[in-house]
Amino acid sequence: MAAPEVWVHGGAWDIPIEERPAHTEGCRRAVETAGRILAEGGTALAAVVAAVEILEADGTFDAGDGAVLTSDGTIETDAGVMDGATLRLGAVAAVPSCRHPVRIARRLLDEPEVSMLVGAGARRWAERTSVWHEVVDPRGHIRERRRYDAMRSVRKTVRMVFEGDPFPRGTVGAVARDAHGNTAAAVSTGGTPMKPPGRVGDSPIVGCGFFADDTLGAASCTGFGETILRVQLAKEACRSLVEGNAETALASAFDMFARRANGVGGVILLGTKGPGAVRWNTPTMAWGRWTPEGCVAECPATSNR
Ligand code: ASP
Repeated sequence: MAAPEVWVHGGAWDIPIEERPAHTEGCRRAVETAGRILAEGGTALAAVVAAVEILEADGTFDAGDGAVLTSDGTIETDAGVMDGATLRLGAVAAVPSCRHPVRIARRLLDEPEVSMLVGAGARRWAERTSVWHEVVDPRGHIRERRRYDAMRSVRKTVRMVFEGDPFPRGTVGAVARDAHGNTAAAVSTGGTPMKPPGRVGDSPIVGCGFFADDTLGAASCTGFGETILRVQLAKEACRSLVEGNAETALASAFDMFARRANGVGGVILLGTKGPGAVRWNTPTMAWGRWTPEGCVAECPATSNR
């Protein structure tokens, strides 16, 4: 039986140097918590959801409390969760002002009749199933956060347009394998800064932003969603596990991603055996990994390819 393991990511983009320690610390806290769940015999599914909830509440990342604004100044969040043992999944897209969209996605995974909900419908469903009060911020801190993000988004967009930095991202995600060898994947995002309201990227689309299947493994993606969608990157990374280990699978998936889609982003990947791997082709990526031997988190200053 393979050893339990969990990976998280906090976005792949040109993370400013001064923001890297907060990204590293957030990833460390998330993998430590998820690792504890696995060490105590918890499921891969519970571990990935717990990790993503921590990253959503952190405020550093483009997810949950830290979600960027649309061009209308609103917040629309996306998330997805998949259980590799049963292939059940839950996903939400364009959910207005939501602190923990991953929690709604997790509840949807138990629904036999609905896997994905969008916008006001997702909110209404969450209200009816009493998840909504768990996923909005009762302290109202989000309002302050938004004001800050509004300024940040505008600055990022100006940089994007005038300084040729088209990839400001900070989506969060996790993949895990538990003591039974089951895998799971999760992802959560505010999308891209200044996106048109209603825009949905790769993140909540199964096989694109996230994927898990116990016959292959689990993957969670971040990056320029429009390019990730073109090649269904999460599924492609998992499929490539048939030909090798996580490291070689990512190399082959990224080769195709860059060649066919001009793709830009990062992926964490974990197979049903052996160690997982991370790869990105942006200037940096925030990530963390837990195994029974210990935990590491990084936001290094260079691309790893
Ligand atoms: N992939 C996300 C999106 O396009 C953004 C990100 O990863 O930061 O919505």
